[in-house]
Amino acid sequence: MDRIFYNGVIKTVDDAYPVVSAVCVQGGIIMHVGSDEEMLKYKTENTELIDLQGKFMLPGFIDSHMHMILTHYQNMQLDLGACKTKKEVLELLKAEADRHRAEGREHEWVNAVNFNQDYWTDDKNIPTRLELDEAAGDVPCRILRCCGHTASHNTKALQIMDVMKEKPGETKLNMKFLADGTPQGQLFEGDAELASQYVEVPSVEEYVQWIKEETANCAKLGLVAIHSDDLNMVAPGRDVQNVMDAYKVAAETGQMSIKVYEQCRIEEAELLKEFVKKYPRGTTFGTRFVTTSIKEMGDGSLGAHSAVLRGSYANDPEAKGVQVHSDEEMFELFQIAHDAGYPVVVHCIGDGAVEQVLNGIEHVQNNNPLPDIRNGVVHCQIMGTDQLYRMQRNNVLAYVQPVFCRADAGIVDDCVGPEVAKQSYNWRLFEDLGVHQSGGSDCPVEPCDPIPNIYYAVTRDNGKGGSWYPENAVTMEEAIRMFTIEGAYAGYAEATRGSITVGKYADFVVLSQDLTKIDPKDILKTKVLMTVVEGETVYEA
Ligand SMILES: [Zn+2]
Repeated sequence: MDRIFYNGVIKTVDDAYPVVSAVCVQGGIIMHVGSDEEMLKYKTENTELIDLQGKFMLPGFIDSHMHMILTHYQNMQLDLGACKTKKEVLELLKAEADRHRAEGREHEWVNAVNFNQDYWTDDKNIPTRLELDEAAGDVPCRILRCCGHTASHNTKALQIMDVMKEKPGETKLNMKFLADGTPQGQLFEGDAELASQYVEVPSVEEYVQWIKEETANCAKLGLVAIHSDDLNMVAPGRDVQNVMDAYKVAAETGQMSIKVYEQCRIEEAELLKEFVKKYPRGTTFGTRFVTTSIKEMGDGSLGAHSAVLRGSYANDPEAKGVQVHSDEEMFELFQIAHDAGYPVVVHCIGDGAVEQVLNGIEHVQNNNPLPDIRNGVVHCQIMGTDQLYRMQRNNVLAYVQPVFCRADAGIVDDCVGPEVAKQSYNWRLFEDLGVHQSGGSDCPVEPCDPIPNIYYAVTRDNGKGGSWYPENAVTMEEAIRMFTIEGAYAGYAEATRGSITVGKYADFVVLSQDLTKIDPKDILKTKVLMTVVEGETVYEA
């Protein structure tokens, strides 16, 4: 036997033997599970013994939705996430623009990310181009909201993007105007990404380095696998080949600490046809990369009032939300994915977007019924109870981000009113209906740390000393499944990963405390001590 982990409290997430104290691993595979006494019998002279010292071990965590490549890219930008005032934001931008000028690179964009005006205490209005002009002057400047659905730009940036000529009532862009009819600076949804046309596509070598660093970061957080949405993110329309090539190199040369299930984002029909031909579902590089699903966008975000609702915004009756694709476009994309055997996973914040997606999923299944197709709704935020039942009937998976509770508990009721709010983020009902519900972080929107996600899944802490619709919470047992076996199921990998079961890959996380025994308020104190992927220790505290 290569390795024997013993003297632990090992929660297997396998009903056949829920808690054991030891596991034997050979060639990256779990060979036996049981008591210390039984397992230590398999010891040979070459066996490495790992004494867990009574610590708590789980199947390694799986994050079912994030953006690993984008996370790295954003970490290279000016981060406005910690700013508590608009004044601070503008000062940081000014300092960065001054630096560009001082270093003779005033043509280089000041790209800043991650701002959230909801947290600002002085003025919650997103800066206009005129305010950004005061800060950055003639240096092109763009700031992207934390949700990724809206960006504001200074005049220089709008000139480079050829947006200054746009007129209200005529423009095809999703943008705001000032009272004098000139562009205000803010663009929304797909158009918030216009500036990315000016981003140089990173080379394969650069991407390999990012993948190496980010998968190692994930391992530190106890993750053994993630579902990552990486294509057309950094340089939309131009980066697919380099990202795919980089994953191939990284996976085949042992540079990935963890496994990536790729949620392939291709939002244009012709490009999608080419992609699924070149990379059929289940295209695998080594053991650590596989193309799993096709990712599409349904709507925007709640904070930007671009989520598509069936009703109207309680606090903004004018807002309609932004539907990313017409029904016709969306159904065509679904059909292409479906006919290639790929499930679609679609970003939906509002119940209007969910409705479109469920219509589309039923439509393609009626045209060409496929067994075991695991389509999904990513986020599942504003929803009606009727839609949860509809997901159950169609085996549509729920990809939820419990940590969103932290920011959203304060805004959902105002946006949609309590009647809809209490039917929303209803992780309890998903469990009760037996919908496959996996958990993720949507990193870089939130850090890809499963521990806070588990905390919010079970507590629904509203940040004000209370709990936000606590009846919609899940149990600890369920939360653990959401971040282990359900992440594997979403990757069609429940037979090989997601639980500590004989014959599966030896993917483990060792934690400082037993999550099933502690007071929920102490969950956040949990530390990751060790992460094991395919039998190999990829992180040790
Ligand atoms: Zn996302």
